[in-house]
Amino acid sequence: MTDAFVDLCTMENKIKGKVVAITGASSGIGEATAIMLAAQGAKVVLGARRKDRLEDLVGRIKAAGGEAVYLVTDIKNHGDLVQLVHLACETFGRLDVIVNNAGIARLSRVDAVQVSDWEEMIDVNLKGTLYGIAAALPIFLKQGFGHIINIISTSGIKIVPLQGVYAGTKNAVRTITEAMRQESGGLYRVTGISPGLVNTELIDHIKDEAARIAVKEKAAQIAITPDAIAAAVTYAISQPDHVEVGDIVVRPSVQD
Ligand code: NDP
Repeated sequence: MTDAFVDLCTMENKIKGKVVAITGASSGIGEATAIMLAAQGAKVVLGARRKDRLEDLVGRIKAAGGEAVYLVTDIKNHGDLVQLVHLACETFGRLDVIVNNAGIARLSRVDAVQVSDWEEMIDVNLKGTLYGIAAALPIFLKQGFGHIINIISTSGIKIVPLQGVYAGTKNAVRTITEAMRQESGGLYRVTGISPGLVNTELIDHIKDEAARIAVKEKAAQIAITPDAIAAAVTYAISQPDHVEVGDIVVRPSVQD
């Protein structure tokens, strides 16, 4: 038996003690991921804008015996992400993983020309993810290890009306994720996770009424829970250091 085989077979908990920063931790996939990782012994560092939600979540994780801190973070600001990863290093001594999860969906037809919505999606989904990468990479390069996990979307895999610009921002992240994977040379790991339809507040925040109603109806029929995506994040992190999970797609089994 090789060491690698033993690594893959061992039941040892590879999450325990890992320091994981998560953006968009105040609800949905980010919140579920924080709870799942903390329950397995990760030290989680949570960012989002809604302080009350983060405070409540940290309280719940600590009450369950976990370790968590939070920082009010707007990923439109590069400086906020730098502070978030520094909080991880100051509090827990290092950063093992950043989960660039925060995102918004301003769905509408392209010919509705919702320019400010396009700008917001580019600022949050694309630039915000890049800011997370930019904040974490210098730490990873200095440490000689690290793991970037970007939450993308099946919207970029199957292109459909109303999701053009949203999918565009997600596919930009997909492209960057793959380039980084090749550039990393094994120094840090890179994973892209593309969820299908998940039952979260993302849908409630869709501004275009027709789009919101259509997605809500579909979600009521087929959406999976955020735990399914949290489990994929957990799987990617829990692999031995020499194993990189590049791409994961997790969608309802009945999704087109
Ligand atoms: P939620 O709306 O529940 O969560 C989105 C999170 O992003 C919230 O915690 C929100 O927190 C945070 N966020 C939004 N804007 C900012 C910002 N400017 N700065 C910091 N945080 C921000 O939706 P989901 O959990 O579904 O979304 C998580 C990710 O999953 C997103 O990237 C989304 O695109 C992706 N996804 C979701 C799918 C779904 O069907 N739900 C499908 C495919 C992908 P706050 O408002 O407190 O800042």
